[in-house]
Amino acid sequence: MCLSEVYPGRDDAVLTCPVCLDDATHEALVSPCSCRGSSANIHVSCLKQWHASLGYPSEPSCPTCKQCYFGDVAVELLRINLKVIEADAAGEENVSVAVALNNLAAVLEDQGKYDEAMPLCERSLKILESVLGPSHPDVATALNNFAELLTDMRRLDEAEPLHWRALSIREEALGPDHPDVASSLNNVAALLEEKGEFERALPVYERSLAIREKVFGKSHTAVATTLNNMALLLKKRGEFDRARSLYERDLSISEQVLGPDHPDVATSLNNLGSLLKQQEKYTEAEPLFLRALTVMEKVLGEEHPRVASALCNLGKLNSVQGNLNGAQTYFERSLAIRESVMVPDHPDILSVRSLSADNLAALSDSDSIPVC
Ligand SMILES: [Zn+2]
Ligand SMILES: [Zn+2]
Repeated sequence: MCLSEVYPGRDDAVLTCPVCLDDATHEALVSPCSCRGSSANIHVSCLKQWHASLGYPSEPSCPTCKQCYFGDVAVELLRINLKVIEADAAGEENVSVAVALNNLAAVLEDQGKYDEAMPLCERSLKILESVLGPSHPDVATALNNFAELLTDMRRLDEAEPLHWRALSIREEALGPDHPDVASSLNNVAALLEEKGEFERALPVYERSLAIREKVFGKSHTAVATTLNNMALLLKKRGEFDRARSLYERDLSISEQVLGPDHPDVATSLNNLGSLLKQQEKYTEAEPLFLRALTVMEKVLGEEHPRVASALCNLGKLNSVQGNLNGAQTYFERSLAIRESVMVPDHPDILSVRSLSADNLAALSDSDSIPVC
């Protein structure tokens, strides 16, 4: 039995490093993955030693939870990995160096350190172009990663040509109906949507959908994902009826493939409910929101942030229907969950607090209306 089971929830238990079994007296312990309990904390120096014995893997991950390490620890390990690979390459720019640069850039990007990630992304792309040639599918992947970084930096006009180039490389190298071509089309469409160019985005999504339906069949989760993306775009364009039919197809595929109690089914229910709410079809929206809540509570537990979002949606729906007391109950449950799992000034806490305050004010107004 491990420590976490012997002392569940005891925060005064002495934390030790699983490698050297020492505590944090001489070196701080870090938690670089999602492990909890006895394997959650480790010394960076011990982790480095262990990684040295493995020859510095290019994707350092936890052997227990299998998750790639994140944050500063991952950056440190990947910087060493890059140095080792550069030393092996002895000045030659080869594919291994490009991969190491790409992996380090990805972790920095996750941390929001875009300016540090940028030169690594650029160098990785240049190496792959010169070693593999400009039309290699791996160059398309590097272009795609670079474009995602530029998108994160809101440099959308610079990201667009990179996505188009990645698309044409994949079409040329893999054929027009390859799943990677569909992914590239999806990336292009998402970027155009992000730029507000809805007219240009829709036919690109339609091409992506056609490929996925052809390759995977009409009832596949990849098809459902594209349907969901297209429905959201149509909703933004105000084409509610078309959006509804796509959301309904997305929901039915998700239910069929994943079963009724899956978080993705809850997301589909929620998206369709939101559309119906926007159309003021409140009585149709409510059972969908309620089902989404039930699925999330069952699958994720009653204290999950997504349960809080589902409660908040039900609060807003009840409020707009004039059921202020019902709305208040939902807002308060949502707030309680968010306060227990989020930092105190999290925007989601502030937003539900403000919804709750507005609803309370409306409640007291409705109380004070004189009866004639
Ligand atoms: Zn240690
Ligand atoms: Zn772990």
